[in-house]
Amino acid sequence: ERVYRVTATAVGNGSGLFVVVFKDQSEARRIDRMRADFIANASHELRTPLASIAGFVETLRGPARNDAAAREQFLQIMQNQTARMARLIDDLLSLSRLEMKALSAAGARVDLVGVVENVVDTLRPLAADSGVVIENKVGPGRIEVAGDRDELFQVFENLVENACKYGQQGGRVVVSVVPTAAGEVAIEVRDFGPGIPEEHIPRVTERFYRVDVDSSRAQKGTGLGLSIVKHIVTRHRGRLAISSRLGEGSAFTVHLPAE
Ligand code: ADP
Repeated sequence: ERVYRVTATAVGNGSGLFVVVFKDQSEARRIDRMRADFIANASHELRTPLASIAGFVETLRGPARNDAAAREQFLQIMQNQTARMARLIDDLLSLSRLEMKALSAAGARVDLVGVVENVVDTLRPLAADSGVVIENKVGPGRIEVAGDRDELFQVFENLVENACKYGQQGGRVVVSVVPTAAGEVAIEVRDFGPGIPEEHIPRVTERFYRVDVDSSRAQKGTGLGLSIVKHIVTRHRGRLAISSRLGEGSAFTVHLPAE
């Protein structure tokens, strides 16, 4: 469906001639619709934990007023729900910052070996808690790309964290450099977990998309992580490749132009 805005302007004075301009509005419409969908989704995602908190407040003031055990349990749930809202707001802010900000440090050189090292150091304790060992096979040496260090950190942080969360049963996560086209560098984050059903693979980078809503929620997901990753990689003129086999695991590969 195409939508055009049509304007007619008279040429000269009383010449009887008009210029008619057709302006394609489909793209603008599509973006408006995406924005409206996004706001609706974000509101829904925030409303769910909020409704749960409101419900427990009511119960705590009423039926559970004098039940110490129930009180403790409900307070715990409320705390988890506020944490979930905080994560969601952080992710939403990340996305809106990315949209507002032009890639500031287009010329800055970032060493991916250092970035991955920092990410792995940051996440090692969390991984250990879930029984996952992270093997960092990137480096030694330097792998330079042009871009924003914080954003690239966020890319690998999200990918390694997902690999630990969703691939937990595989027991290990491997980050390594893989061969790619000339002029590019590629770094892969691989897990040995349950994998992603094929029909979901193209959709996991959509905002709020989760493969298995219940288990993803249990995993403290917001459904925004991979959309942030894709956004950052794209604005670094790179691409994100995803391959996965059920029962064998998943590999997320970040391709970036080499410096
Ligand atoms: P979330 O906040 O839910 O983790 P993401 O955007 O990071 O959101 O991921 C979207 C969905 O993709 C997840 O909910 C999960 O279902 C799936 N997913 C992401 N990474 C993996 C992985 N390594 N293995 C299996 N599934 C994954």
